[in-house]
Amino acid sequence: MITFAPGPSKVYDKLPQYMQEAYQQGILSANHRSAVFMNLYQETETLMKEKLHLPEGYRLLFTSSATESWEIISQSIVQSSSYHIFSGSFGKKWFNYAKHIAPTSFAHIIAAEDTIDIEGLQIGENFDLIAITQNETSNATQVSNASIAAIANKYPEKMIAVDTTSSMAGIELDFKLVDIWYASVQKCFGLPAGLGVLLVSPKAIAKAKDKGETGRYNSLNFMLENAQTYQTHYTPNVFAIYLLKRVLQDMQEIQHVDRITRERMRKLEDAIANTTKFRLLIQNPEARSSTVLAVTGREEFISQIKKNAEKEGMQLGSGYGPLKPSSFRIANFPAITDQEMERLITFLKTY
Ligand SMILES: *Cc1c(COP(=O)(O)O)cnc(C)c1O
Repeated sequence: MITFAPGPSKVYDKLPQYMQEAYQQGILSANHRSAVFMNLYQETETLMKEKLHLPEGYRLLFTSSATESWEIISQSIVQSSSYHIFSGSFGKKWFNYAKHIAPTSFAHIIAAEDTIDIEGLQIGENFDLIAITQNETSNATQVSNASIAAIANKYPEKMIAVDTTSSMAGIELDFKLVDIWYASVQKCFGLPAGLGVLLVSPKAIAKAKDKGETGRYNSLNFMLENAQTYQTHYTPNVFAIYLLKRVLQDMQEIQHVDRITRERMRKLEDAIANTTKFRLLIQNPEARSSTVLAVTGREEFISQIKKNAEKEGMQLGSGYGPLKPSSFRIANFPAITDQEMERLITFLKTY
């Protein structure tokens, strides 16, 4: 059975080899204050720079999940409140976590079909951070690098944090545009769940210092202090970090991955456009995601196609939240091979 669910998603076929290597190299018992771990951390950060084009000066931090990053940002960086622009369930969840810590945070909800109206944006002085869900996995929409750049350009004095949980390592992101980016590894990194990555610029680090929040186990200042010497503030998931390093080592540079991701998405979209029973959930190509496709149709057809796909050894992703009965989703993540995607496309074409 191969899964096309957008997280947890299909892991890389080379995972058994990477896991074996981790064991054989003795890394699984390595102390996190030892040179072995410090080298692993440093190598992983260097690979993020080489393969994903993370700019110089940005730091890689390890978390347990993207959810943890939601909390870290509000707790350790936001000084008064955050302004959240979103169209779907993950953006909404982030806002709810933020509100719990900074109650005056604001939700600017847009329609899934719409791109952000940047000219019309009016974000007051009481908001020191803008929160953007770059790839909204629930409704398969995305915010372009150009939109992020325009928002950053309009509000140079505000910090911007971007959720790229289901796009980082699948498409090219222009990290230098803004200061905070995060993801977790069970999506485009093709790894088992349980590790998150948080990327922060020198400006974000300075803002955290200025806020001075400390004392919690995941206070950003505490994490950064340890990261200075490539250590972590608690005994980390060394196994998962090793697997992340190996995936980064073996992946092509992100501009190549990006091209393949976009080409494959075009083929998938064409296949759906040519069916009689289904259509793309998002009609606006400017708003549509490159890494996750959502397909809508009558409820009976949705449940039928999911069952038939299973019979063929393929698991489609269910719709998310309120979209569960009326849609299904397909992950277009790098760990899925071209051959597997071709098989799915051939199957979709029978509808
Ligand atoms: C999956 C996902 C999350 C949550 O990730 P966890 O690792 O479960 O915390 C957050 N945001 C987006 C956009 C996601 O796709």
